[in-house]
Amino acid sequence: MTKTEKVYNLLKADYPDAKCGLDYRTPFQLLISTILSAQATDKSVNNVTKELYQQYPDLESFLTLSQGEIEEKIKKIGIYRNKAKNIYNMLRILKEKYNGEVPKSMEELMSLPGVGRKTASVVLVEGFNIPAFPVDTHVFRVTKRIGIAKGSTTDKVSDEMMKKLPKYKWHLMHHLLITHGRAICTARSPKCEECSLKAMCNYGKKMVKNKL
Ligand code: SF4
Repeated sequence: MTKTEKVYNLLKADYPDAKCGLDYRTPFQLLISTILSAQATDKSVNNVTKELYQQYPDLESFLTLSQGEIEEKIKKIGIYRNKAKNIYNMLRILKEKYNGEVPKSMEELMSLPGVGRKTASVVLVEGFNIPAFPVDTHVFRVTKRIGIAKGSTTDKVSDEMMKKLPKYKWHLMHHLLITHGRAICTARSPKCEECSLKAMCNYGKKMVKNKL
């Protein structure tokens, strides 16, 4: 069994309930929430979208909002001006170019304002069950520390992970790594001594050895 497969199995046992932290009901809402989640916590996004999606549940209702009104409604989330501008422009592209539907290809999603590969991957895998491997800051950090990815960018790490695991494991592995990154392998002070991966983790082995 490969190291990556072992990591998958151990994390699966640690986090049997790992799943997307964003609250949404449709691919459209998922797209909006994922754009809002850049440099913001899922919790802060959910706090804002709970009321927002009650009042504006779909594209048609969102289209009634001016850019300033979108800003006002999302201002509790980081970099809200930029996000409001992207969302305002994106809504019109969805309406005019995609008949009001969220597109289902990486290329089309990435052509939308404010949508990079990570956001597009989340929408594909989470919203449409189309295999993709989103790499956010947690996935990037944790895979590099363990030593199952070497790439210098999130795109390269995504490519590596897709090569190392069968397609049906991509979605869950993405959530497992995020959950682990939040709970144990945190950015500033990873809890290596209590981590189930410490015997196989490059970074963890060094940390535990230095303490002996
Ligand atoms: S051993 Fe430490 S660095 Fe490695 S995955 Fe666990 S917490 Fe992260």
